[in-house]
Amino acid sequence: MKESGNISIHTENIFPIIKKFLYSDHEIFLRELVSNAVDASQKIKRLSSIGEFNGELGELKVKVSFDKEAKTITISDNGIGMTAEEIKKYINQIAFSGATEFVEKYKDKGDDKGIIGHFGLGFYSAFMVASEVEIISKSYQEGAEAARWTCDGSTEYSISTAEKDERGTDIILHIAEDSEEFLDEFRLKSILEKYGKFLPIPIEFQDKIINNPTPLWAKSPAELSDEDYLKFYEELYPFQEKPLFWIHLNVDYPFNLTGILYFPKVKNEFQLQREKIQLYSRQVFITDEVKDIVPEFLMLLHGVIDSPDIPLNVSRSFLQADSNVKKINSYITKKVADKLQELFKADRPGFEEKFSNIGLFIKYGMISDDKFFDKAKEFCLLETTSNKLYTLDEYAEEVQALQTDKDGQRVYLYTTDAQQQDAFIQSAIQKGYSVLKMDSMIDPHFINQMESKIEKTQWKRVDADSIDKLIDTGIQLEAVLTEEQKTAVKEIFEATINDKQKQVQVEAMSPDELPAIITQNEFMRRMSDMSKTGGGMG
Ligand code: ADP
Ligand code: MG
Repeated sequence: MKESGNISIHTENIFPIIKKFLYSDHEIFLRELVSNAVDASQKIKRLSSIGEFNGELGELKVKVSFDKEAKTITISDNGIGMTAEEIKKYINQIAFSGATEFVEKYKDKGDDKGIIGHFGLGFYSAFMVASEVEIISKSYQEGAEAARWTCDGSTEYSISTAEKDERGTDIILHIAEDSEEFLDEFRLKSILEKYGKFLPIPIEFQDKIINNPTPLWAKSPAELSDEDYLKFYEELYPFQEKPLFWIHLNVDYPFNLTGILYFPKVKNEFQLQREKIQLYSRQVFITDEVKDIVPEFLMLLHGVIDSPDIPLNVSRSFLQADSNVKKINSYITKKVADKLQELFKADRPGFEEKFSNIGLFIKYGMISDDKFFDKAKEFCLLETTSNKLYTLDEYAEEVQALQTDKDGQRVYLYTTDAQQQDAFIQSAIQKGYSVLKMDSMIDPHFINQMESKIEKTQWKRVDADSIDKLIDTGIQLEAVLTEEQKTAVKEIFEATINDKQKQVQVEAMSPDELPAIITQNEFMRRMSDMSKTGGGMG
């Protein structure tokens, strides 16, 4: 037997699912309804600009108000409006998006940027907080009659003609008993500010405009000054120290993305503040959990990312599965690497100055991302105890002659604490060797990475052994003690230290060195360095 047909949906069953589970966070009803009002305003603007609407556009604005006694919240716009027929078409059909239809219809006439809606589901989020929803709307079309639609959340609705003079739509929510928390000035204001701070149409709440309709990232980099970027940073993060520099992101293909990423000053791990990047979709705030979109090591950056290719109702699992997200992630990594390279090439002294603040990003990036490593190895700097900065290549060349051991391995000496290990550093310097400062929490991991990626190079902590042992150039020193004398010295030391874990070795050392040193094996050292930093960037 073979049969084909249409799958039917019982709205009685799907309705409660949409109402309760589509969005876990009930407050987003306001985001959805305000987005629709913004869309309606953008549409009328658009029709006006292409000559399909010749009436007075007026001052486009979305107004949100509430009435504690009547238990209503109202979202009003003077946008495109709807006829009764359109309400039936756009509202009654769940998952039929009038926004997508509009974009399709006018896609040949200019760009479609600015229309938020997409799935045709947002409106129904109103029923998460309302026991009854009313729409009163009047279409922009000449001679259109206003219409009133009501629905109590069941699958039945009623529609009739209504009284309304002005073009546009009022959405009136009759707030359900369990959602009365939303009938509150501060609650509403904070939700509006959270999601609508940068919506492209003015949003009015209690006679004040709560948003900045033209945020910096939506403007062209060519028309912006450093001042503008710094001012916007302050708007995003009041009372924070100035950022070091920033990147203005702007892509059209193969996905749309704009944004500004700022590099904050970061001296140590304790200053790291995550969740400082905000994700927007067409200027609607979505989340500040940008994991997956922004590579882990760049979570330390601050700023905004806006991509219409990321839908509004994102969930964690959605983000992971979305193919655009991966592309966006690697695009951002590349942009950041390019920017750092550009800074390095254009102004080396300036770059060196910033390195103490950006070194942590760079090293973290090199550890966690191979592509980033390949670019960053050109501009990642190593600092010696004499405060000189070298690129990896420069440093290899610098130490090649003196610090290559008898097996042809370059030996990089480093210190984790220049003060405590000073005696060892001095004896290395006396030999003409150089010692690298590797004292940040990321460094033990960075060193491991460097050893696995860069051939013929060994890293040794300067106090891990006597200097001649650390860099064994093959030149034998002549021992002044006989074997018997050595054994005697060894016994005296062992008795003094009195610790079976530690072993005493008696060896010849060059005369310019200290008479005796206590060392710890490099392997043991590193184990304890790594465990001190918890094995990651906690
Ligand atoms: P989407 O916005 O994803 O298209 P919604 O469920 O949010 O889906 O809205 C469904 C449709 O209802 C919209 O596409 C639009 O055509 C219409 N609509 C909703 N709110 C308004 C409004 N304030 N003014 C005009 N049309 C609206
Ligand atoms: Mg919508």
